[in-house]
Parts: sequence; structure tokens; C-alpha cells
Amino acid sequence: MPLNYIIEHMEDDLHDWCLLEYCHLTKSISPSNLYFTNLSEIAKATLSNKEILREANFITADIVDSGLPMDKICLLDPSSKQTLKPEDGNTFDYYLFGGILGDDPPRDRTSELRKHGFQTRNLGDLQMTTDTAINVTKRIVEDKVAIDEIPFIDYPEIKMNNNESVIMPFRYVAIPSSTKSTLQTTNNELKHNLVPLLPEGMIELLKKDADMKFEF
Ligand code: SAH
Repeated sequence: MPLNYIIEHMEDDLHDWCLLEYCHLTKSISPSNLYFTNLSEIAKATLSNKEILREANFITADIVDSGLPMDKICLLDPSSKQTLKPEDGNTFDYYLFGGILGDDPPRDRTSELRKHGFQTRNLGDLQMTTDTAINVTKRIVEDKVAIDEIPFIDYPEIKMNNNESVIMPFRYVAIPSSTKSTLQTTNNELKHNLVPLLPEGMIELLKKDADMKFEF
């Protein structure tokens, strides 16, 4: 039976990057099993206006005041001593993630959720983006795939244009590169035809940010 995934939005704004990640979640999770908490009224309006997120749950209260059953929640926490296992799917009904734009190096902002005393699990020792962490968690607790069987690409270098590339300081799920993919990675994964699973529109957003950075 489907489990539930909670994203505590912890950024001051609903940045384009967050929006792409949150919409991308619906590729692997039914929107009715998605809960967004700690939303400002504006963020709630923006997200609930997205057609693909229409059935999701939007809560302005933070996780502590959300009314969700705290004892049934597992916080995905990079600092947890225990790695998430398929059998954890029988223990927890809700999986909680920080809606945080990762930093490099990470500033352990997940600690703002840890202080509430949730049971925690890690997804390995490298930082994932929120949507990657949710995708991996769903594969483990619902599809019963052990984390060691999930292919990853770490710190992919993404080509922006002929002479620029950017390194994404995260672990991503690896997927076969499709001929239509516009994604060019310079790592050797391409030789094995694997590319990082990125939200739709992320490459265009990165290119736009890169162009803006170099506009004088
Ligand atoms: N840089 C942030 C984390 C950003 S990732 C920090 O300083 O905490 C956003 C969320 O994805 C985290 O809050 C956590 O819930 C989840 N996540 C990312 N990588 C993870 C990992 N290796 N193990 C467990 N959870 C992880």
C-alpha cells in the first residue's frame, strides 16, 4: 500500500529550483501521497496551482503542528546512524525530508528537523537533492529495492555549452541516457550510457543561471 512523503519547506522562498524538484516528485509518487508543510500562503498558492500537484496535500503549519502522526514518521537524515532498509516500510507510514536547497559542503540544516526527536534513517553518506532522496526512499520502502542495488552517479559534471560545465555536488539516481536527452555529462558514465536523473527543466534552469552569472 502506498506510503506517504512529507517535504518540510525550509527555504525563504519557493525558488525555481524547488519548484522543479517538487513537480518532479510526481514522476515516482502519487500526488495524494505527497505532503508539503511549512508553506507560506504564496508558496501554497503557487504549488496548488500546478496541475500535476493538484491532488497533493498543502499545509501551512510546520511538521510539529501539522497534525500528522509524529510517531509514524521517519526523518531521512544524512547524519542518522541507520541506513534505510526495505523492511522499514512496515514500520513507518510517513517519510519526512527537508525541502532544502543543498549546500556544498552541507550545513546540516536537517538538524532543524532532527531536534524534534523523530526516528531517523540515512540514505548513504553523500548528500542527495530532496527529489532524489524521495525517489530513492520510495524504491527502498515501497519497491523493496536495497540501497546497494540502486545505481547512482555522484557529483556529475554537466556541460552548459561548448566551454562551460558545472559540477552538481550531489548523488543522483543513474538512468540510461536516451538519444533525445539533451544532457551531456563529461564524466565517464556517458561511456556506460548512464546519466543523472534530473528534474525536467533543470538543465535549462542551470544554463539560464550560468548565462546570467556571466552577463556583464
Ligand atoms: N544540505 C542540506 C540537505 C539538503 S538535501 C542539509 O544541510 O541538511 C534535502 C533533504 O534530503 C535532507 O533534509 C534530507 O531529508 C534528505 N537527504 C539528502 N541526502 C540524504 C542522505 N544521504 N541521507 C538521508 N537523507 C538525505
